[in-house]
Amino acid sequence: MGRKTAFLYHDDFLKYQFGENHPFQPIREKMTLDTLQSLGVFDEDNVVMTPRQVDLDILMTVHSEGYIEQVEELSKLGGLLDRGDTPASPGLYEGALMAVGATADAARGVARGEFDHAFNSAGGLHHAFPDRAAGFCVFNDIAVAVRILQKEFGIGRIAVIDTDAHHGDGTQSIFYYEDVLTISLHRYGRAFFPGSGDSNEIGEMEGSGYNINIPLPHGVDDDLFLRAYNSIVIPALQAYLPDIIIHQFGVDGHYTDPLTDMKLTTRGYAELVNRTHELAHELCGGKYLVLGGGGYDLDATRRAWSIMYCIISGISVDDPQLRELHDQKTPSPDEAAIPIVLDVIEEVKQQSLSNLEKLRHHA
Ligand SMILES: [Zn+2]
Ligand SMILES: [Zn+2]
Repeated sequence: MGRKTAFLYHDDFLKYQFGENHPFQPIREKMTLDTLQSLGVFDEDNVVMTPRQVDLDILMTVHSEGYIEQVEELSKLGGLLDRGDTPASPGLYEGALMAVGATADAARGVARGEFDHAFNSAGGLHHAFPDRAAGFCVFNDIAVAVRILQKEFGIGRIAVIDTDAHHGDGTQSIFYYEDVLTISLHRYGRAFFPGSGDSNEIGEMEGSGYNINIPLPHGVDDDLFLRAYNSIVIPALQAYLPDIIIHQFGVDGHYTDPLTDMKLTTRGYAELVNRTHELAHELCGGKYLVLGGGGYDLDATRRAWSIMYCIISGISVDDPQLRELHDQKTPSPDEAAIPIVLDVIEEVKQQSLSNLEKLRHHA
């Protein structure tokens, strides 16, 4: 069997939108597809796959029937799905069913070994809770993928890595009492959405120790982000020994993103995916499902996602082809962030060290 990488795309992704002045613009997904096509990346191993809408039965393993009906109704009538930033509009329901369906198809394809890796740029909707929308997220496709892997394939050890600039609060809440490993690196603070994600939120009962938060200050750059990643995420994955890695690859920590005040560049994102991709081959036979997420500078998002897809499809991280996609500038580092991040790394290490031991015993 070849080393295949799937790219999921459907024009219904464009229906998942909240109006022309809203920061979330699904056109970035089409822009990524167009960029990869113009680079000539797709061939017999790297394929574009057309997804189907998610089955309601599967969606109901995560969301309540009442909430699903409410989304369907409101998307016909108009109205707000949450307290303000996630308005319903015609087509949103269909768009959401397709965004989740693409993650579901991608998860099944990876689980069956039809391809090693898959990317659904319309997925990664990590703020959605079982009975409510939040932060531009209607249905939590990450949680749906986990339920499919558990129920249809009997996969027990599932790791969810979330490197969006915002805390993966919906995902955390859904698996808080279960031994699914959920790790989120994010900007943290009371005034920054969603406000949760402190390092002491480690999971409870069966889930105790399986939720790891790495709360970061604003201004974190590639170097600091990767330092946190190497110190915590890599040892956690090596201890947990997942059967599959799901990666929420929101890129709104990019330095030009209008919402987050972080300082990552496309080079940091390339290194991040390069390491995770290698770990997937090392630990779980390459089973690696990548999902989208935040990304509000559309051009930076298009470039970061295209570079990421090239890397998981086997193009070397230093390939000259990628040069024109990378940022041409580097932001100046924010010195004030350095000591804060070093403290956070120590704190999270201490908090999760005994837990890491527990994860190791469990394996
Ligand atoms: Zn985000
Ligand atoms: Zn690979």
